[in-house]
This record gives sequence, C-alpha cells and structure tokens, in this order.
Amino acid sequence: MFTAISLSGRTVSLLAGKDKAYIASQSQWFCPVCNERLRLKKGRKRRSHFAHVAYTNCPSTTAESEHHLEGKAFLYEWLNKQGAGVSVEAQIFETNQRADLLVHGKEQTLAIEYQCSAIDREKIRARTVSYQSVGIQTIWVLPFYRLRRKGNTIRLQDWEWEVTDHSRYVPRIYFLQAPSTLWIAHLGAYLSPQKAYAQVLSYPLLTSSFEDVKETNPSITNSSKAMLTYKKNCRYGKRLPPTPFSIQVQELLLRHKLPLHLHPAEAGWFLPCQAWVREPPLLWQSWLFIQLLYLLKRQTYISPKMLDQHLQYLSRHLQLSMERTQVLMDQYLTLLVNFDVLYKRNGGFVLAQRIRFPQSADEGYEMDQRYAYKGSSMVTN
Ligand SMILES: [Zn+2]
Repeated sequence: MFTAISLSGRTVSLLAGKDKAYIASQSQWFCPVCNERLRLKKGRKRRSHFAHVAYTNCPSTTAESEHHLEGKAFLYEWLNKQGAGVSVEAQIFETNQRADLLVHGKEQTLAIEYQCSAIDREKIRARTVSYQSVGIQTIWVLPFYRLRRKGNTIRLQDWEWEVTDHSRYVPRIYFLQAPSTLWIAHLGAYLSPQKAYAQVLSYPLLTSSFEDVKETNPSITNSSKAMLTYKKNCRYGKRLPPTPFSIQVQELLLRHKLPLHLHPAEAGWFLPCQAWVREPPLLWQSWLFIQLLYLLKRQTYISPKMLDQHLQYLSRHLQLSMERTQVLMDQYLTLLVNFDVLYKRNGGFVLAQRIRFPQSADEGYEMDQRYAYKGSSMVTN
C-alpha cells in the first residue's frame, strides 16, 4: 500500500509530493487499517510501497499485487494532474471501507476501485451498496488483461458483469492499460452468460480527462443484430443447462404448452440492468411475461399491486434486492410499452393487444425480427 501512519500519528502517502521529505526523515511506520508495524520497501524495479513487517491477516494486504499497486498509482497520477481532489487508499469511517481512490468532486464523491483479482460478485455488490449508503458512487476498473475480446464480442466471468457502471444509459465496463490508456466496453447486447456484444473504445490518458471519459456516450451500432443473434440461438440453439430457475420457467411454459424455443417474442431482450442478473434474459422475461399477461384480455388494467407480487417473486429467484429488481422490472415494462404491448395508465399498465405466441421456431424468429429494432432502442438511445 501507499499510505502509512508515522510514530507521531501523521498519515502520509508515497504518491503525494508534499510528504516526500517527511517520509525520508522517519523510520517507523504503522498500518492505517490494523495499526501493525509496516516497512517501507524502496524497490528499484518495483514502485516503493509499505508492507507489513510480520505475517498478518490485515484486510489491506489482500489483492495487493504489483499490478494492483501500479494501476492504482497511475490512476492517482492521472487524476491528480487534472486537479481532481483525489486521495489514495482513503478510509471511509462510516462504512469501515477503504477506497483505492477517492475523488472529491464538486457535486459528488466517487470511489474508484481497481479490481485485479477475481472476487465474488456479491462482494462487489455489497461494497457498491455500502458506498452508496453514504452518498458515494463507485466506479470499478479492471486491468487490461481482463479485456478478452474478439471483434465486438467480449468474454466476461460471472463477477465481471457486476462491475458494470450504470451511471450512463448504456452500461459500461472500464479497463486500465497502464500507463497509457483507459478502455471502455459499452455493452450493447447479451449473448450468453459468458459473452456480451460491446463497442470497445480506447481513451489515451495523456489527452483525455476523467470528465471526458465519464461523459462519453457513443452510439452503439448493430446492437439489434447482436440481440437477434441471441434470439436465434434461443429458438434454434442448444438447450439451456438446467438450473433450478430454468426448470421452474420451463415448467411454467409447458403448463401453457410452450416449449422453450416457442417462448414469447417479447422475452429475451437485453436491458441495461441485465448486468446485475445471473439468469439469462430469455428465462426471467419469459417468466414475467407469462405470469403477468397470459390469460389477460385486451384492455385489462394491470395494477401496481399486481406488479408488486411479481416483484417479490423475481427478487427472490434472481437473488436481487427489491430496489434493483424494481429497476429491472421497470426497464422491462418500458420495453413492453415500446413494443406497443402495454401502455401506461394510473400508475399501472393496460394490455394494448391480444397476446400471441409463436407456433413454430420460424414464426417465433420472424416475430423477434419485427421487435429487434425497438428492442435495441433500449440501449442505443
Ligand atoms: Zn494492516
């Protein structure tokens, strides 16, 4: 780590020029997290840093690979040069968290976490929510070697979906190629639990400011085509591996005499908040669509109370908080409004047309194609 406390209690950072002389004059250092002794390691090849003298299970030592130290330092220097109020390894006392970098903006405080090692997605979620509880927004940055890309397809491990930034309408993932470039994968479609369609753009750190990078909002091309690739696979491709949720959804569909490949054309579309969900869009959207609309006649009113029951079920089965499930459901209902299946009335919705299910995979795929352009408008606007 780059921060330590001196014998007299002053907290210093190896990255801050103003601390340089003081650090040189001192010899005893203590960990800001666990108070144990630290040693200043002045590497010739490696960047200087503090390390615990004795073996410890201090949380500050986990994941401090060389890569992690380097990336953290580069991000710090880049932000510092722009005059952003930035501190490294900043302690947030209210939540007992330590941010890799904390940026004090005029309007908001931002934690930047540079995540190199694999981590449970629940941990990322918990940390993000915890920062949020004290008004801090989080941006997760992954090291460049985690960007596994073939053209416009990127591969994502389960936990990597969770680092997606949702502050812009098109969800995005940041990758740092130290020392020169920040890459952003703008997600445009879901392809499989391990793959997403993305527009990957690079931003040279020398000429781009953090604000530029944050505000960038490119249009995503061909996302409707990529969404159809997924839908085609759902109609004609291999069967899904049976998870408890997929079995439940398939049982529900079969009760209505629908094998999975004849799922409603209105299900299986990529929505920005899909990144939060482990289950494929085909499954949870088919479930919601059938539970909500099957058997309903045209012009039936769907009250907020009816929606609420489904919200609770989805929250449980997708293992998602009620708040996040609400956002996800709102996005899906908005999609159904775009599809002219529903329209809004009195805080609820009205079914605008009779529900029709495809009779064959071919017919289903034809229906999918009719929806594709409107489906992609959810991430291209
Ligand atoms: Zn410690």
